[in-house]
Amino acid sequence: MKALWVRTFWLLLSVLGLVVLPAKLAFGTFWSVAALIACLLLMLGWHLVHLGQLLDWQEGPLDGPLPRGRGVWEIAFAGLHRRVRVRLGQQQSLSETLDRFMRAFQALPDGVIAFDRHQHIEWINERAESHFALSAASDRGQALTNLIRQPDFVAYLENGKFDEPLIYRGGRVEGLVLMLQVIPYGEDHRLLVSRDISQIERLENMRRDFIANVSHELKTPLTVVAGFSEMLAENYEDYGDAEIKHYLTLICEQNGRMQRLIEDLLTLSSLESGAALASEERVEIEPMLRSIFAEAQALSGGKHEIVLSIEAPSVLAGCANELRSAFGNLVGNAVRYTPPGGKVDLTWRVRHGCGEFVVADTGIGIAAQHLPRLTERFYRVDRSRSRETGGTGLGLAIVKHVLTRHQATLEIESELGKGSRFVARFARQRLLS
Ligand code: ADP
Repeated sequence: MKALWVRTFWLLLSVLGLVVLPAKLAFGTFWSVAALIACLLLMLGWHLVHLGQLLDWQEGPLDGPLPRGRGVWEIAFAGLHRRVRVRLGQQQSLSETLDRFMRAFQALPDGVIAFDRHQHIEWINERAESHFALSAASDRGQALTNLIRQPDFVAYLENGKFDEPLIYRGGRVEGLVLMLQVIPYGEDHRLLVSRDISQIERLENMRRDFIANVSHELKTPLTVVAGFSEMLAENYEDYGDAEIKHYLTLICEQNGRMQRLIEDLLTLSSLESGAALASEERVEIEPMLRSIFAEAQALSGGKHEIVLSIEAPSVLAGCANELRSAFGNLVGNAVRYTPPGGKVDLTWRVRHGCGEFVVADTGIGIAAQHLPRLTERFYRVDRSRSRETGGTGLGLAIVKHVLTRHQATLEIESELGKGSRFVARFARQRLLS
């Protein structure tokens, strides 16, 4: 502003000194006034030209180049230019910040839907699109309750009490369980945050099933033990030695069953604890299989033909105890599920660089529909047969865990009435020789 006044003052002084005063001296008052008016008109014209340039510029695009002015206009345009640049810079950094926030919202593992007080959707992130089968492009502006109509959800929104989350099942995406929470923000704006808890629900169900299964497994032997013990304790004198011995044998059998169950549960729990292999040692396959073979013969009591063939005397990198337990379970099953007179073949071989332990039997076999579930805890094809032969229903679950911990796979082939073939396959990195 100061510059404007200073320049105007000097200009007027120059006009008076260089034009008006010489005109007055040379031609008289009339011509000096005429010269003054002409100068003022010239100045007005000059300002109007610059004003026109400014008006043209302000009608153009926001970031259009400013005209180059002269004199005081040069200063004015330079100031404007500086302001526009600063504003554009601020706008740019604001839009970058906004963009970063948007990307952060997109990257969230939770779904986020922003909506207004009329429940009209303003913004949806990708996770929310997949949680509710919505489309950000076509559903923006729609009322949330028109798209998510589940009564519990509608009631939750209308209730307005958002301290507790809502568990949302049975939405458009099958099998998905969501935990929803509405977070009010700003004036009458809200965020709907959705978290996928399907996995947690599944684990919770598994935990409940597991407890029910364990209780069920323990209940039968405990009932037998409690029943016979009470009977003997109360009426001991009514029974002869042979009867007492018989009842005590039954109690021992049931005790053994509970013991096996607890041992298998402990093994499973230590395998499932997620800790890495307790130890990576050199496991000599041949002596391990020979000792498992001897145990299988003892279990069979000479009722089966059991053949062990070791094609390559390999050494595996792994945990000997775990491998022994897995191989022992496979061999034990082959003997237990093969009727007397049947055959069990145990083979260790190396195929395409992978170590394979193959257990083939000519036993009762397994119908195809059971194969995918065999390694689930407590899954049995024939409950009573499993119990009769001392099974806990946890053997193949243990096998599967041990093999997974050794980056090995379990392949099962079986035909009802003809026999089964279990192959534990170890990757070549596990084979030390
Ligand atoms: P279990 O203690 O009942 O044997 P497992 O987990 O070892 O439990 O095996 C699960 C089920 O798989 C068994 O109950 C049985 O029905 C079936 N199974 C396992 N191995 C064999 C086999 N070699 N032949 C036939 N059925 C088998």
